[in-house]
Formats: sequence, C-alpha cells, structure tokens
Amino acid sequence: MNKITIYDTLSGEEKELTPIVPGKIKMYVCGPTIYNLIHIGNARPMIIFDSFRRFLEYSGYEVTMVQNFTDIDDKIINKANSENVSCDEISERYINEFWKDSELLNIRAPNFSPKTTNYVDNIIKFIEELIKKGFAYQSGGDVYFRVRKFDKYGELSHRNIEDMRSGSRIEISDIKEDPLDFALWKNAKEGEPYWESPWGKGRPGWHIECSVMSTELLGKEFDIHAGGNDLIFPHHENERAQSIALHGTNFANYWMHNGMIKVSGDKMSKSIGNIWLVREVIKKYGPDTLKIFVLSKHYRSPIDFNEEGLEAQKKSVDRVQESLLSAEEFFGGNVPFVKHSENYEKEKEYIKNSLSVDFNTPKATAKIFDYSREINKAITDKDEKAVAEYYYLIKNEIGSIFGLFLSTSEKKGNKTDDIMKIVTELRTVLKKNKNYELSDFIRNKLGEIGIEIKDTPTGTEYRIK
Ligand SMILES: [Zn+2]
Repeated sequence: MNKITIYDTLSGEEKELTPIVPGKIKMYVCGPTIYNLIHIGNARPMIIFDSFRRFLEYSGYEVTMVQNFTDIDDKIINKANSENVSCDEISERYINEFWKDSELLNIRAPNFSPKTTNYVDNIIKFIEELIKKGFAYQSGGDVYFRVRKFDKYGELSHRNIEDMRSGSRIEISDIKEDPLDFALWKNAKEGEPYWESPWGKGRPGWHIECSVMSTELLGKEFDIHAGGNDLIFPHHENERAQSIALHGTNFANYWMHNGMIKVSGDKMSKSIGNIWLVREVIKKYGPDTLKIFVLSKHYRSPIDFNEEGLEAQKKSVDRVQESLLSAEEFFGGNVPFVKHSENYEKEKEYIKNSLSVDFNTPKATAKIFDYSREINKAITDKDEKAVAEYYYLIKNEIGSIFGLFLSTSEKKGNKTDDIMKIVTELRTVLKKNKNYELSDFIRNKLGEIGIEIKDTPTGTEYRIK
C-alpha cells in the first residue's frame, strides 16, 4: 500500500496514516442537524469525505465509515413547534430528503448512519460513568462536564484554557462551577421532548452524542475523526474531552477538518438570504459541476461560491462530458478496455500520489481536463488506443474515486430499475385483486417494447431483451 499522509489538526502536522489495525480504517464524520434541506455548506464535507473514503478503498483499505444525524436539538424543536408537528416527523422528513440529495450527488451511504435519539440509553450510561469518575456533576436537572479536571482541554483547538476563561464573558452562574463547563444533559423545558433519566426529565447535550455513537460503532479508539473546521471548537474539543476522560484512550488518532464555504465573499446565512440548496445547484449546474467545483480546491482551504465560478466550471465539465461521448461514438458505443500500458500506469500513479499527500484533489481533478483534451486529440489522430486509455483514466480512475461522470446510459439504467419496480408492484396489487386481465395487458405491452416479465415464486423479475 502506498504511503498516505494527512494533515492532523491536533498535532498541527501532516502525519503518515497508520491505522490501528493494518489495512483497515475506521472513520467518524459529524453529520448534519436534520431540520432543513441541505445546502452547499453541508455538501462540502459530504463530497470531501465520501471521496476520501473511496480513495482509501481505491488504495486497498477496508473502510468503516460512520456519519451521524443529530435528530434532537433546539433548531429541530423550534421547527417542529412552528409547524405544530413532532420532532420525529421533522427529522424523518429531512433524513429522507438528505438521502435524495446524497443520491443526486452520487455519494455513497456511510456504513452506519446513527440517529441521536436511538442512543439515549447509551448516552445516559456514558454520563453516569463520567459523574462516577468525577468528570461531570449534576446541577439542578442539568449535568455538566468539569473542564477544570481534564488537563488536555484546549489541545485540539490550540487554545489556552486561561485565555478562554478570561476571554469569556464572566457568567454569574450558580449553575456551573466554571464558565467553560458544558452541558452533557439538559433539563427539559416546557413543551420539549424528553427522556427519563437519573437527573429527571431531559435530553442529551449536542457533544455527547458523537462520543457515544462513535464508541458504540467504532470502539473506544478509532483512526480518523472528520468534520468541518467550524466544529473544532467547541464540538470536537468537547467530544475529545468526554471520551478521553472516560476511556483513557486517544479517542481519534487523526483529526481531519474541511474549510468553510462563503457565497460571494459572505458567510452563508439565513438572514442574508444567500443559502444555496444542494438540489437547486444540481438542477442548474449538474452534480459533476458541483463536485468538481468543490474538489478543485484543497479541502482545507475556504471556498467562495459564486455564479460566475460555477458557470465557468459547468462549461469545462460539459466539454469533458462531450469528449467522453465522442469517445463512445468513436467506437460506435462501448469503448473497449485496453490492456493497461506504461502510460496508463504512470498516470494512475500520478493520481494516487497526488491524493496520497494530504488529499490533494486539485492536482488530481486538473488531470480530468488534460485527459479530456487528450481524448479529443486522439480522436482526430484516429489513435484508438489513446482514446480508450484516456477515456478509462477519467471513467475508471479519477471518476470512480470521486464518483463522477456516470454516463447517460448508466443513469438511464437506474431510472429503468426504478420504473420497473413501480410496474411490478402495480402488477402484484392487480393480481392480488384478481385483475388478471390488466396485469396480463401490462406484461404483453412491456413484451412489445422488449421487456420480458417473469413471475417467480419469490417475486417478479424482468429482463430487457
Ligand atoms: Zn459530532
């Protein structure tokens, strides 16, 4: 396996990736709070860490990836109250929408997508243990983490605890022992959803859920913890404090953080009204444009989103798509696999080496446009081998690592599956209602357009002739 380095926020250095178990990577990514349709700020970590996971797999690692859904939070409660529905209804609705957007972006589902509310019992146990060890205390119906007792506090965000204390507004509080202490458990306010706990009716604080779900699904120590750099403080600092305090392990061995997204120089926010929803951007520019726009900047740098940038990106992506289509036409349909040449292997190595150094996606994505030009040149030269070589460098190498350039026929294939699922379900209902005439009519009509339907004891199968 090739050597991979990534920048680790904790040490502030680029470190060689050495997994706990050789050949296997366990990775936790903080997911969205699920109360709205996702925007491009949510999409950036999704695109980056899905691509990083694919790259690790491409490099021969077996990856277990967890990305959570925060499904209990003030924002969800407010949204539920404003619509007069339950929090469950809100989170279920937007989790469904999240998966739709994920699919549009051709982002693979993580191995586990836990929801906070399914882990409340484990959260309560985790907090009880922290109290037993002296790292947490109850105050009224709340429970707080005792920051003063954890001497590594501030290490991840590179902050000095005394500076933080003097910098924070002095809270006159008889609830907390120290202004830096943060809530592990919150007493339920009137009208809020709650769970029974040893401290009364309440709900988990935000940070504790990720400590608990990562432990449950990946163990007390795992390889990579990832998320947006806006989460470094306080969220990740607090997660780390809770987990190390309880387990005495290193918690996560690498901390990977992506940079933020701005829109025409401004922070994206509801009040400015510059929120770009993922599905709107995809509708206008297509998934490949959005993904390449994100991947053509280094994941740790900030990105500025603006119409001109996306327009320009779309034009260049369209040209790549045209060259891929021309290659297909050049061969009258399917482009034949070529026996990999020295040149092909050399290019593959280049892509792999670029991505192996702190996931340098700009270097790798720049190659897409080089290859596209090479395809066009090879078509003019009638160089079959070169056409096929560069075609597959885009489709099977860079394209597969980033989940790009599904051809129109591949996309149609998926749609046909979806439509056939509906048709076969319809026939099952018709037969159940003994409407054999109509169900036979559907079968015959499909037969006429070359789709053969076969009823088997385990269900209906179809075949395109
Ligand atoms: Zn988290």
